[in-house]
Amino acid sequence: MGPKGPEFAGIFRFGVRQKVILVLVLVLIGAMSLSGWLLYRSQRAQVEQEILHNSEVIMDYVSKSLAFSVVGYDYHTIQLHLEQLIAFEDIVYAQVLSPKGNVMAEVGARPHNEPGAELIGTDIVLNGEAIGRLALGISNTRIIEKLDVQRDQLITRELLIIVLIAIGEFVALSWIIIRPVTRISRGMTATVNESGTIDQGIQIDSHDEFGDMASRFNLLRDRLNDANARLQSRIQMADRKLEDTNQELLRANEELKRIALTDGLTGLFNRRHFESLLRSEVQSSLRYGDSYSLILLDLDHFKEVNDRFGHDVGDDVLRQVATLIQDIVRNTDVVCRIGGEEFVVLCRHADRAAAVAAAEKIRARLEATHLQTAAGDVRLTTSAGVATIPDPGTQQDAREFLKNADRALYRSKKQGRNRVTHYNEIELEAHQ
Ligand code: GH3
Ligand code: MG
Ligand code: MG
Repeated sequence: MGPKGPEFAGIFRFGVRQKVILVLVLVLIGAMSLSGWLLYRSQRAQVEQEILHNSEVIMDYVSKSLAFSVVGYDYHTIQLHLEQLIAFEDIVYAQVLSPKGNVMAEVGARPHNEPGAELIGTDIVLNGEAIGRLALGISNTRIIEKLDVQRDQLITRELLIIVLIAIGEFVALSWIIIRPVTRISRGMTATVNESGTIDQGIQIDSHDEFGDMASRFNLLRDRLNDANARLQSRIQMADRKLEDTNQELLRANEELKRIALTDGLTGLFNRRHFESLLRSEVQSSLRYGDSYSLILLDLDHFKEVNDRFGHDVGDDVLRQVATLIQDIVRNTDVVCRIGGEEFVVLCRHADRAAAVAAAEKIRARLEATHLQTAAGDVRLTTSAGVATIPDPGTQQDAREFLKNADRALYRSKKQGRNRVTHYNEIELEAHQ
């Protein structure tokens, strides 16, 4: 819903405005109809009473003036009197009866229980004796018609008043109630921004219940915003802690991985990692036809070092040899410790000559080096066995490859140690 939403909906929906107008109009119509009806009834009763009274007075007067004419059987005069009587608007019938009940004169139409018509009568008296009877028919029709016209005028006037009052009340109610209600309703649907804070308050200056409601809403909004801010900062703190813990876990995980892959004494990759490394490297070298070599090193008579200088010095020597090998080989070569005093160098992009040269370099350097230990200088030599792939001969997989390097190493040991043998030499001899 857009910003114009609530106003738009207010026009068509049966909202407070519509309800107020409806109630107002119904109450006014009800009240005015009731009061008008009561007024009409009492006026009508009063007028009817007055007509009756006036007719009785006239009847009394006429009965007296008729007395001599009746006694003298003067039909003509009686007839004249009666005709004068019904000249009155509300008298529609007149009749004179003789003492015997015979009609002496009659004018107009005799009413027969019609609504708004009434028959009244009196004795004609002379010297205290009834000598005849006068009857009059009275009609209310004229006056009722007049009253009805008045009633219709009254209804029109009241309708006009109702409309005026409704408009006035509507304007007043709109100002006092509907405007603040609309503001409150709009304020309550105010947008909550991304951080969950309510931006807008409700602006009502009136010092009435609506003003109270608005200021309470604003107070509530401030408290909610405060609580939200506190919550947000707690969430951020928790997030940071979580992030830290996560980092620690990642570091610990890396450390665990490293420990699982490396040898504790020298920091070189261990046998397990060497084996998986060898498998994948051999596979990719065979696929791309790239030459790849393996240098297997076994220190000569290492047992004697332990025996002469002790195990700790032996360990120190192993560490120094590891460093020495790493210093010599290329960055792309990988050095592993795969046994007590056995090392291996995985040489990428290295053919037979390059690998043998590298192995020879290690052998020569170790032979020339005085390893300085707690027990003094230690001199040491190593034997090496080298194998290279691709080899059109036998080396098809990692296991065979390693075995061939081992065979070459065994040859170096057998031929007096402190030397480098490439498996190729054994192959050549075998074919001779
Ligand atoms: P060879 O020239 O035939 O290889 O003789 P060698 O004495 O080196 O051969 P051998 O395999 O019989 O002995 C290896 C010795 O290496 C035995 C063991 O005491 C020693 N050794 C193996 N692992 C460790 C280690 O972690 N620390 C120390 N200090 N010595 C070790
Ligand atoms: Mg050994
Ligand atoms: Mg050895």
